[in-house]
Amino acid sequence: ITLEVHTESGHINNAGGKMPLGLKSKRLRILVTGGAGFVGSHLVDRLMARGDSVIVADNFFTGSKENLIQHFGNPRFELIRHDVVEPILLEVDQIYHLACPASPFGVVATLIRGTRFHKTNVMGTLNMLGLAKRVGARFLLTSTSEVYGDPLQHPQAETYWGNVNPIGVRSCYDEGKRTAETLTMDYHRGLNIEVRIARIFNTYGPRMCIDDGRVVSNFVAQALRKEPLTVYGDGKQTRSFQYVSDLVEGLMKLMEGEHLGPFNLGNPGEFTMLELAEVVQATIDHNAKIEFRPNTEDDPHKRKPDIAKAKDLLGWEPRVSLREGLPLMVSDFQKRIFGDQEDIGG
Ligand code: NAD
Ligand code: UDP
Ligand code: UDP
Repeated sequence: ITLEVHTESGHINNAGGKMPLGLKSKRLRILVTGGAGFVGSHLVDRLMARGDSVIVADNFFTGSKENLIQHFGNPRFELIRHDVVEPILLEVDQIYHLACPASPFGVVATLIRGTRFHKTNVMGTLNMLGLAKRVGARFLLTSTSEVYGDPLQHPQAETYWGNVNPIGVRSCYDEGKRTAETLTMDYHRGLNIEVRIARIFNTYGPRMCIDDGRVVSNFVAQALRKEPLTVYGDGKQTRSFQYVSDLVEGLMKLMEGEHLGPFNLGNPGEFTMLELAEVVQATIDHNAKIEFRPNTEDDPHKRKPDIAKAKDLLGWEPRVSLREGLPLMVSDFQKRIFGDQEDIGG
């Protein structure tokens, strides 16, 4: 069967959403930490559609209940307000550990920056691994392409160890995730915990946090609000943008498969920030202006995933291009920014 993801921008047929045999019969109890966030809520949609029982643990730093409202009242769904920095006792078969704000910059991040950020990555991951150990659950860590730092190898393969500043402004995020990966592998090697590691590259789509400062959400919100698109630095730095349904498909394949990873999950389509601004202009407003701003410290110059390993061992590759995916998040942003007013896009 083919599953469908229900997003606020409508029905998206999740191409390739075929369910592995065997899963249909066994209902799993799955914990999704950070499940009220952007990626987590789309993952929860897929798990619920598959028939699993899902517990979300989230402290709502950057996520919101709105993202999960479609499951309220369903007896297979539970939402717990919980900070993963604190221990928790639950009985589950699998843990998707996503809890962590996805950007070290932006409005929310500046409020919780530094120790809190690092604590979430280190103590939060430790607690979830302790939980996995106690109940024998399989544990999946959502790590990040940021572990490659400002990469000296391009594109980045999983074998690359990265080029990271341990004391910079981004370190709470990238070094935090590197520590989380280390903890994950130590629990695997030392305690035989079944683990999976995904290194996620820049992902966008409906339900992205509007104010977390990431480039796609900034540009889309700015174009809709008729504000200039803020390009940092000279705009020639590159990123590779993945649509959220592709990521969710990859995470589920990784969890269900035999290989622990790490696996790069990203779309190899590489864009400069100026090119991204052009796609946003073409999608939302041809007249949107561009304003240059100073770049953030230690900003990686380029980033593009080598996904050969995921293609080969998981049979996964992304399907949605940036030009196809971007319009799918615009209507969601319109609704959230302007409410139900009509005729705003221009
Ligand atoms: P998000 O900010 O939308 O979601 C993160 C969720 O975690 C939010 O609901 C937030 O409230 C929750 N959270 C944060 N700290 C918590 C804590 N201490 N306890 C409990 N809940 C907490 O971000 P996202 O884009 O959905 O990212 C999900 C995961 O994927 C993160 O681990 C992120 O590092 C990783 N990732 C995302 C991207 C991307 O481009 N979106 C790229 C690389 C890695
Ligand atoms: N932990 C948790 N839930 C559990 C089991 C453990 O939150 O069901 C936490 C526990 O409080 C500890 C962490 O996970 O802080 C690591 O647990 P582990 O048993 O590996 O370490 P230990 O407690 O032996 O140092
Ligand atoms: N960026 C930008 N304008 C913005 C926000 C970000 O030009 O309004 C740039 C930023 O400097 C970086 C790139 O976009 O080079 C991606 O930033 P983001 O924070 O989205 O992701 P990350 O740096 O974590 O890959």
